[in-house]
Amino acid sequence: MKKIVIIGGGIAGLSAGCYARMNGYDTHIYELHDVPGGLCTAWKRKGYTFDCCIHWLEGTSPDSEFHEIWQELGALQGKKIYYKEISIKIFLKDQVINFYNDPDKLAEYLKEIAPEDNEMIDELVYALRKFYLLNDMPLTKAKEVFTVIDKIKMIKSFIPFIKFFKKYGNGTVDEFANKFKNPILQQAIPALLADTKLKFFLGIPFLLATKDSGFPQGGSLNFAKSIEQRFISLGGKIHYSSKIKKILVTNNEAVGIQLEDGTEIKADIVISAADGYSTIFKMLAGKFINKKIRNCYENEPVFPSYLQVSIGVDMDLSDDPNLNSIYNLYKLDKTIMLAGEEKNYIYLKSYAFDPTFSPKGKTTLVVGFTSDPEYWDKIYQDKEKYKQEKKNVEGVVISYLEKIIPNIQEKIEAIDVATPMTIIRYTNNWKGSTMGWANPFSVKIPRTLPKLKNFFMAGQWVGDTGVSGAAKSGRDCLEYICKKDKKKFIATKP
Ligand SMILES: Cc1cc2nc3c(=O)[nH]c(=O)nc-3n(C[C@H](O)[C@H](O)[C@H](O)COP(=O)(O)OP(=O)(O)OC[C@H]3O[C@@H](n4cnc5c(N)ncnc54)[C@H](O)[C@@H]3O)c2cc1C
Repeated sequence: MKKIVIIGGGIAGLSAGCYARMNGYDTHIYELHDVPGGLCTAWKRKGYTFDCCIHWLEGTSPDSEFHEIWQELGALQGKKIYYKEISIKIFLKDQVINFYNDPDKLAEYLKEIAPEDNEMIDELVYALRKFYLLNDMPLTKAKEVFTVIDKIKMIKSFIPFIKFFKKYGNGTVDEFANKFKNPILQQAIPALLADTKLKFFLGIPFLLATKDSGFPQGGSLNFAKSIEQRFISLGGKIHYSSKIKKILVTNNEAVGIQLEDGTEIKADIVISAADGYSTIFKMLAGKFINKKIRNCYENEPVFPSYLQVSIGVDMDLSDDPNLNSIYNLYKLDKTIMLAGEEKNYIYLKSYAFDPTFSPKGKTTLVVGFTSDPEYWDKIYQDKEKYKQEKKNVEGVVISYLEKIIPNIQEKIEAIDVATPMTIIRYTNNWKGSTMGWANPFSVKIPRTLPKLKNFFMAGQWVGDTGVSGAAKSGRDCLEYICKKDKKKFIATKP
């Protein structure tokens, strides 16, 4: 039996592990943290669960192509799925705008607010419909195993999108918003991207296309643990608190891995489902690279890092009609400085809909911002300064929350601030990125590296972004390995 070692027990690594076992490989995952999931995670404080990942999960609906993969991975069985009809609720100074995820409902609602913008609203809704079609594209086969017929089918399925991408592919959200006549919508549309600094228009339909993508009860870590259990029940072995330092290479063939403590583990195949930068430039010392890959790592922007304030409050907010969206964005009266950056919006998410998140009658809330990892890195060395900066953030957030939910301060029972350094410490992601490349449509890194045999990569840094992208990436990786090993790829369900 061939042995596969997988670096990283995030969703891509766990998925690769499950399919490796289904296909008869002796499989070991090495994970630096002591829990599975990588970015798909949560933690507990004083009885409250603080989630730091899934807003919406592609493939929760049994009608979706993706659902099959979750079934194979045992990820959703027995879990209640929560759906929201409002993706994002924007709070402007004098008006609240609901961005519904149903295209018809969104069109009708926005046209009531701004009948003078019928044409532009139709354009927005057209982009949203196209995104739903993109999400529905068949995806169960890895592109590396495509036959000529598969390729033709793929190209054909892209034809309806050519005009769409040509028209909107390079557009910015500000250009789009400026074409609206109504001042409220002129403000509300760019507000959807808040302070992310990601200004490409396609980010908007991406954020709104959440209709059949729900939230699995128990949240992100619970979800990751289900896949970990599937891996273990298939006979896989997962080694926690095991950081990999080096990928061992002999004559241009990956032959194993070396842990930070120097332990060497031999293998026939190595898969890295860990951070792309450290895999290519540290574990492999930048020896297996070409111009295209170097160019990506030198020039392509990454999805921003993140600062999260998680709060447990002794208040039942489950019936609050203002908290019924996936998340809310509040435009601030004036720009504030937070962790060295100007902020104009506060993001707020309530988990009151899921009773597993807090003790009965209480609520978990999360406030989040994009944040600069370099700023945090500079103060991180001085533990007191770092602690103080986290306290400052906490103070700013609480004072704004008081305006949104009066008297909340005295009801706070648990509070926790996670910074870009937290993301780096627990997941090793380059620049603390939460999704890998900022524009995965423009970045395609191959699953293998030039001149390196028996080595594969999976996950968000190969451009397979999001929880679902990572799971598909692990599956694709094994489909490709089976093809190379001249084996029929097998996928089973528990
Ligand atoms: C706040 C937030 C919100 C998000 N919202 C959504 C959402 O709503 N929907 C969605 O689909 N996606 C969402 N995402 C994105 C999604 O979580 C990621 O794209 C996806 O989980 C990436 O999975 P991955 O396995 O590719 O990478 P990772 O999760 O980064 O996994 C890599 C793993 O490798 C391990 N590792 C790294 N280096 C080493 C090493 N040297 N040795 C051993 N192990 C190592 C890490 O610890 C980690 O466990 C969100 C992410 C965040 C943080």
